Amino acid sequence: MSFNLAAMFVEATRAQPLSPVLWAGDDRWDYQRLDTESIRFANGLLESGWSRGDVVAVQSPNVPEFLVAYFGTLRAGMVLLPLNPLLTATETAFLLGDARAVVLFAHELAVGAVLGAKEAGIPLVTVPAGIRHDGDDGRLFSDFLSDRDHGGADVAATAPEDTAVLLYTSGTTGKPKGAELTHFQLFMNCTASADVFEARQDDVILLALPLFHVFGLSSLANSAIRRGASLALVPRFEASAVLDVIERKRVSIVAGVPTMLHALLETPDRDRDLSSMRMALSGGSPIAPDVVTRFEERFAIPVLEGYGLTETASAVTFNRAAGRKPMSVGRPLWGTEMRVVDSEGNQLAPGADHVGELLVRGHSVMKGYLRRPAETAEVIQDGWFRTGDLGYVDDDGYYFVVDRIKDLIIRGGYNVYPREIEDVLYGHPDIREAAVIGSPDDRLGEEVVAVVALREGSEISAEDVIGYCRQRLAAYKYPRVVRFVETLPKGPTNKILKSELR
Ligand code: ATP
Repeated sequence: MSFNLAAMFVEATRAQPLSPVLWAGDDRWDYQRLDTESIRFANGLLESGWSRGDVVAVQSPNVPEFLVAYFGTLRAGMVLLPLNPLLTATETAFLLGDARAVVLFAHELAVGAVLGAKEAGIPLVTVPAGIRHDGDDGRLFSDFLSDRDHGGADVAATAPEDTAVLLYTSGTTGKPKGAELTHFQLFMNCTASADVFEARQDDVILLALPLFHVFGLSSLANSAIRRGASLALVPRFEASAVLDVIERKRVSIVAGVPTMLHALLETPDRDRDLSSMRMALSGGSPIAPDVVTRFEERFAIPVLEGYGLTETASAVTFNRAAGRKPMSVGRPLWGTEMRVVDSEGNQLAPGADHVGELLVRGHSVMKGYLRRPAETAEVIQDGWFRTGDLGYVDDDGYYFVVDRIKDLIIRGGYNVYPREIEDVLYGHPDIREAAVIGSPDDRLGEEVVAVVALREGSEISAEDVIGYCRQRLAAYKYPRVVRFVETLPKGPTNKILKSELR
């Protein structure tokens, strides 16, 4: 077996060809069907003259063709570049050019695909089969799949350190950079993650997180296949429809970023039978303790929190069901080392008083940013990856994420961690969503601002919110300014976008 993530998929198919691998609405795909289609896809790539190492872009929500393209690309020894379908043509063209992609497979909903591919000067193939973009004369997915044998049935020989997936950071600081995730890194990550949450063959894992994000692709899709489980694909997150999917497909593992879990929690029950659920996984941003408590009460399942980044192929820490610590993101995955350092790089002792930057070393760390040695050297030093997150470790080796370094507010010389204030706000019965940011202030350097969305029918004032926080937080950190909004801006994974709030 060559060391290639597609080989892991082939192994799962061999073991259980007729078990379900995915559900798209009521359409059930077994492993064999996905295997056959991915061979046809690999043959299509080889027939077009592309070869090992070429970059294949896929711009699509969670539909079966995404997974066909994913395993087909890896099978042919090529590199997958997943792109967000909401990108504009200019953004799409930039990423295609930066990654030197040879072809773009785009879903009909990918708004920037036609012009983006044209601008980048590469061919476009539309997904799903049979639907063509307006103004596009490119090929259809169904025509692209080839039944002629070009060697696509064999998994190409790739090296463990070859790049398997290129995932771009969203570029909150400067231009987006492509993180090169290797076969070895992805293989180790899904194996270690699936071990921690004890994924089983009979699990049905909710895939409402996008496949073009590392959490959906690596922690969920790869882990499911590693264990021969199946995925319930959700192309667009809508809480009530997702609860219907959980009921109809007997979903056992619900995974999401905190805003998703929160939305599920807030959706009124219609007497659905949700008894198939056995756990929820949360990661991607901090989850408020109050949301965890209420979620666990309502659905009677544990919420296990993990922590990870694009650059680390998703999870680096996870809580196990047995021995989990509330508020902690858990312990490092097998084979992953972590450390907390001060601004000079000195390792800090355990304890909540020793907050510093979290560093990660081991198989979880990416190869680097594609063709950006200077940026890579900035974040990876002696094998240690700088996460840009602040946290601490306790005496038992459990990690706690305090906040992002760039979100830290310094008010009058005091460090204020927005997350601590957000946790308090989420405990207020009238507040639906909240985010805390710093705004420039002549006297204090920065002032603490709470941006909140109220529940329907609530009529509390800014003074009420400030008073509530003042009772629960020290004088230097409670918010002095409150802004009300209908809803908070969110990114592709439903994470709240603080950069837009600022
Ligand atoms: P960009 O693409 O601009 O880098 P991003 O920083 O959100 O966006 P991701 O790789 O998607 O990039 O997310 C990683 C970040 O998410 C981490 O650095 C951390 O700040 C945050 N994060 C992930 N899991 C958790 C968690 N359990 N608790 C707190 N924060 C978390």
